[in-house]
Amino acid sequence: MAILEIEELRTGYGEIEVLWSVSLQVEDKGITALLGSNGAGKTTMLNCITGLQKAWSGKIRFAGNDITKIKTSERVNLGISMIPEGRGIFAEMTVLENLMMGAYTKKAREKMMDSFEQVYELFPVLKERPNQRAGTLSGGEQQMLATARALMSRPKLLICDEISTGLSPRLTMLMMGTLAKLAEENLPVFLIEQHVKKALDISDKAYVMENGKIIMEGNGEELRKNEKLRKAYMGI
Ligand code: ATP
Repeated sequence: MAILEIEELRTGYGEIEVLWSVSLQVEDKGITALLGSNGAGKTTMLNCITGLQKAWSGKIRFAGNDITKIKTSERVNLGISMIPEGRGIFAEMTVLENLMMGAYTKKAREKMMDSFEQVYELFPVLKERPNQRAGTLSGGEQQMLATARALMSRPKLLICDEISTGLSPRLTMLMMGTLAKLAEENLPVFLIEQHVKKALDISDKAYVMENGKIIMEGNGEELRKNEKLRKAYMGI
């Protein structure tokens, strides 16, 4: 079953159309990926889901609710949480303050102690450094903090925008492993990535976007074997 359904979504900037009637479904289990190179329209799609970009037409449904026109904060309340590209942590704040910022909805505040336990178990380094200024963490630690902060909101869906950007292959593997673990623990993940090979390694289902259109879709296994995709995106 789908937790997030995008139906014939169109949008753009000014007169320029960027998403051309895109439809996709993010499953309520496992990892669904949206893949594509720079400028394909992935971030624009994400912004429509979080409410930062207005849809021209089409529908976005989350857990059965039509969210196409509701505010970003209401979408967070419903359980959509995003790890933004470039991480978006508050550099001047401490690790602890960043985590608390993630738990700003009423429901998340009530469950804050459980959430701390969960994120400290996933990322022990954050537990050791509650008072360190976030901006002084290493790149990998900042990515961990951004992920932990997203989890503090008690999401029903975790969206990751280009999680591998700026990370070493080893840290990318580690973060992808964490996402796989969260998905196994019943948190559905929507992974937005230009690193097609790395993303497909952990995805149960994926869509490939080019010039604002979905050009391919399938389960991870099928797409890993797909010749056209291997040539175009994986260089093999
Ligand atoms: P990237 O991985 O580089 O973020 P992407 O797949 O996320 O790429 P988008 O950022 O969604 O792609 O961009 C899709 C298209 O929309 C591009 O042609 C881009 O130039 C254009 N675009 C994005 N943001 C704006 C904006 N604020 N104003 C005008 N055009 C934009």
